[in-house]
Amino acid sequence: MKPPEGADSRLLPHPVTGQKFPTPVPPGSGWPGDPAGSDTPVCRSREDILRAAKLATGELVEWIQEPVERVEDSVEWARESVGKAHGGTPSIGHAGHSRSSEEGLPTPLQKLQAFISVCEACPRLVGWRRQLGEEKRAAYSDQPYWSRPVPSFGNPEARRVIVGLAPSGHGSNRTGRNFTGDPSGRWLYRALFKAGACTRETSEAAGDGMEVTGARIIPPVHCAPPQNKPTPTEMETCRQWFVREMQLIQPIAILALGQIGWNSVFQVGAALGWKGVRPRPKFGHNSSVRVMADWGEVAVIGCYHPSQRNTSTKLLTEEKLDAAIATFLGAGDR
Ligand code: SF4
Repeated sequence: MKPPEGADSRLLPHPVTGQKFPTPVPPGSGWPGDPAGSDTPVCRSREDILRAAKLATGELVEWIQEPVERVEDSVEWARESVGKAHGGTPSIGHAGHSRSSEEGLPTPLQKLQAFISVCEACPRLVGWRRQLGEEKRAAYSDQPYWSRPVPSFGNPEARRVIVGLAPSGHGSNRTGRNFTGDPSGRWLYRALFKAGACTRETSEAAGDGMEVTGARIIPPVHCAPPQNKPTPTEMETCRQWFVREMQLIQPIAILALGQIGWNSVFQVGAALGWKGVRPRPKFGHNSSVRVMADWGEVAVIGCYHPSQRNTSTKLLTEEKLDAAIATFLGAGDR
């Protein structure tokens, strides 16, 4: 069977587990933290996303239209190659929403992450995330690339949400985990670790044991975009996932990284009918505003994005980032 366009059929070892994967990584094939199974349905449009979100939360019990293709149709080639590499039948889980990386029945949030992680609703981004993984950066030429949408990461029970922009092409798009394996993540996780909100100071690869205990990190766009710039349509499409995840988490505090993160939060707030989002409050580093959601007050704190540009120009320093994280973790104390 032919690989899908933009795929790298070579099997390369995961940097932590050593298990070999092609690029993109087949859903349910054993990548650390993969929320999907080989039978997780693929969303190809905004309407599919809306249906998937309802399916995740139990408002729908099954797909009621046919445009959804099973993942296994597009990754059969990879299943075959993984199977050959392991000398037998590939161990590819079944579940989508009946199997998750955690024990027991999956929660609506876990189901949502499974759907997100195989979404193909933005054709340009599907092509780009695969192209990045096919070409690879020289430093990572010996690694498989995740090259799928990067799911949210961290503890939903904390009800504190960090909103970035989109996965970096050779960071999260490679590692499959938010802010993992890139310079921005090194800044963010160092600050969270110092504040006691995660279990490791560094985050270089999924499967390293990192847990973000004090927050949940959600990218408003789950796929790496060219030049780090999603189009308005891509942002609007991915926002359907974001809105549903915010409804499920019901945050009491949000740290918005950069102007785009800030705008994304207030666009979600407007979609959910929050009070205090119009006119949109002005972004400022370590400045906070309070808005009212269905579930109560939400503190929104602005923070310069820990991008290489912002850190190299010292627009964002370690002290400034620590200060914003402290405001965020202390806001909305229950
Ligand atoms: S950006 Fe979001 S909506 Fe678009 S393909 Fe990726 S996960 Fe799907």
